[in-house]
Amino acid sequence: MKDVIVIGGGPSGLAAASSLAEKGYNVAIIERKEELGGILDQCIHDGFGTKIFRKALSGPEFVDHYIDKINKLGVDVYLESFVKTIDVEGDLKKVICISPKDVNKLETRALIFAVGCREKTPFEIKVGGTRPAGVYTAGMVQRLINIYGILPGKNVLLVGGGDVGMIVARHLYLEGVESILVVYPEDFFVGLPRNVQQCILDFNIPYRPRTIVKEIVGKKRVEGAMLTKVDKNWNPIPGTEEFYKCDSIIFSVGLVPYTGKLEEINAKIDPKTRGPEVNEFFETSVPGIFAVGNLVQIFDYVDDAVESALISAEGVEKYLAKVPKRTTPIKINPGNNVLSVIPQRIEWEDNKDIISFFRPAITIKNAILELTNEKNEVLKTFRRPFVRPSTLERIKISRKVVLSSKEVFLNVRESS
Ligand SMILES: Cc1cc2nc3c(=O)[nH]c(=O)nc-3n(C[C@H](O)[C@H](O)[C@H](O)COP(=O)(O)OP(=O)(O)OC[C@H]3O[C@@H](n4cnc5c(N)ncnc54)[C@H](O)[C@@H]3O)c2cc1C
Repeated sequence: MKDVIVIGGGPSGLAAASSLAEKGYNVAIIERKEELGGILDQCIHDGFGTKIFRKALSGPEFVDHYIDKINKLGVDVYLESFVKTIDVEGDLKKVICISPKDVNKLETRALIFAVGCREKTPFEIKVGGTRPAGVYTAGMVQRLINIYGILPGKNVLLVGGGDVGMIVARHLYLEGVESILVVYPEDFFVGLPRNVQQCILDFNIPYRPRTIVKEIVGKKRVEGAMLTKVDKNWNPIPGTEEFYKCDSIIFSVGLVPYTGKLEEINAKIDPKTRGPEVNEFFETSVPGIFAVGNLVQIFDYVDDAVESALISAEGVEKYLAKVPKRTTPIKINPGNNVLSVIPQRIEWEDNKDIISFFRPAITIKNAILELTNEKNEVLKTFRRPFVRPSTLERIKISRKVVLSSKEVFLNVRESS
């Protein structure tokens, strides 16, 4: 019997597992790939760890720190193992995982899901046309180049103006593709300003805002794409269609949390984040089942994903020690100009400040972040020189500020 099983051996899973193993808990990690590290093994660009290590590391450098810890602490690691079923019988959780070698039946008292997210496919954004070879997602391309040393094509069209797309565009440019064009439906890139400068503008990579792929063209291999301009609601503008010649199309159009297994055990899913609802210690709606990292919220920085994991480790300790919860949780809701917020509820008896992450719905200079209660009274304000949807905001809420409320709302407005 384990104290804790962590499903997913990416940075979040490793951070949670090492934190608990350091405190003497009996921990196991189940990872479906043949090695630990999550998505970071293929992210060889730098920019990881700027908050935790105060320097810009590559993905493998960042994650090696945690893999070393796991190895030194003697955590049980099940590689190439896929979780097949989870049975929750109160405090006891039974996990069956399968690998090419064997089937393992494990039992644990607490479970941390750290399974990350998947990339959206062209089907999910309703791209028409044919389905020839040469259509990829950005993660696939990163893997092809960085792990297998294969360039996806010579003349590339990249769809999507977020961080992942911009990083992959720079990578392709540096690897010497003959041509590259980035298209996206928004007015401007939606990723971090640092990436717009360092990945696109510094290399003069061509880009077209308010442009989408209407159809993929090609029989066996991609021959090009029908592009079209779109209006501010992303509706195609008739008469603006244009054929663009290329041999590869890469889609980088968003990430979606892997919630399948959590849904099977009836954990509540937040339609706004598309991840599980969690309390302030990252426990889902199923007691003793925690969720962290990109599964809960698509974090801009791996450092924040790791922070969620470290907070969940404290929650696991409380759960195992049977620390009581409040009779009625306090709900945290996205209010005016806020798309989503985590955690969605506060429910433990504790003194610790609450770390909350939220995504603004609009861009505002001199922003005021306002915490209000169910009577619309302002409980606390925070200031930011700038907020934008592409930047996930993090705030620290003092617990005593919210304790007498039934529910609280997080709002964003312009400073008057
Ligand atoms: C292209 C790209 C560039 C990025 N650049 C930066 C950057 O410059 N700076 C930065 O700070 N952040 C960056 N990030 C974000 C960072 O990579 C993520 O925040 C981080 O990887 C999230 O970690 P995670 O552990 O939650 O998920 P992941 O790293 O995705 O790990 C999840 C793990 O769970 C495993 N898993 C999934 N399902 C199962 C299952 N059923 N059973 C067992 N195991 C399973 C997966 O194989 C994987 O190993 C980037 C991300 C991408 C995609």
